[in-house]
Amino acid sequence: MRPWIAVFASFKAAALALALAHHRGAALVVFFAPDPWVFFQFILPSQQAFGPVVTSFETSRQEVWLTIDDGPDPESTPRVLELLREHGARATFFLVGEQVDRHPALARQIVAEGHSIGNHTQTHPSTSFWSASPARTASEIDRCVAALLLADAPFERYFRPPVGIRNFFLDPQLSARGMRLVLWSARGFDGAGRLPEAALARIAPQIRPGAIIVSHEGGPRAPKRIRFLALLLDHLSEEGYSCVIPRGDALVEGG
Ligand SMILES: [Zn+2]
Repeated sequence: MRPWIAVFASFKAAALALALAHHRGAALVVFFAPDPWVFFQFILPSQQAFGPVVTSFETSRQEVWLTIDDGPDPESTPRVLELLREHGARATFFLVGEQVDRHPALARQIVAEGHSIGNHTQTHPSTSFWSASPARTASEIDRCVAALLLADAPFERYFRPPVGIRNFFLDPQLSARGMRLVLWSARGFDGAGRLPEAALARIAPQIRPGAIIVSHEGGPRAPKRIRFLALLLDHLSEEGYSCVIPRGDALVEGG
């Protein structure tokens, strides 16, 4: 057991003891005291307390790992692939299983063009994955694997939860499957509807050799997301960066 789980559980146990002793005020304070800390563990990409998280990779070159979430999408994936081709860039697409079920040929095309695929859950439950049960967590992972297998699209054993928010049960589920949790070190919030130019201004200072960049495609904001990718790829070229897919043994947890 990770030490924080014991600490967390002991706060809850102490609160129950206080409540039984009719100290309701104290019980409330003790019960909720560790929750903000736990919340920040969920949302901070570099936090390792919930299990190992890949956030960068080792390189001596001017290289970054571009990751693109939420596809495949018939409107945006072909355009994204075209942009990557124009820039000679390689990327990893974290795909949503139900999208793969609908568009299996796009998943195969991603790999045929030299890119790789990671698992981004079956249904992308962005508002509820943080509280998913062990069974639901496993089902989100495994159904996405099944979708990729049925699509005959080769994939890496990399997982990224929706909006990067983990839950208590994710680490053991990934370990049991030999999968690695991959988040990022650079994001411009392009997925949240920010103007593409503003998203680039936000992400540019975070870009350095070995950075993992998160970006998005598809959805109702697809045009903005594609514009952001176009600006980002131009920026990377101007700064002399190449987009590569790092080897598994170069990945760094919490770097
Ligand atoms: Zn996503």
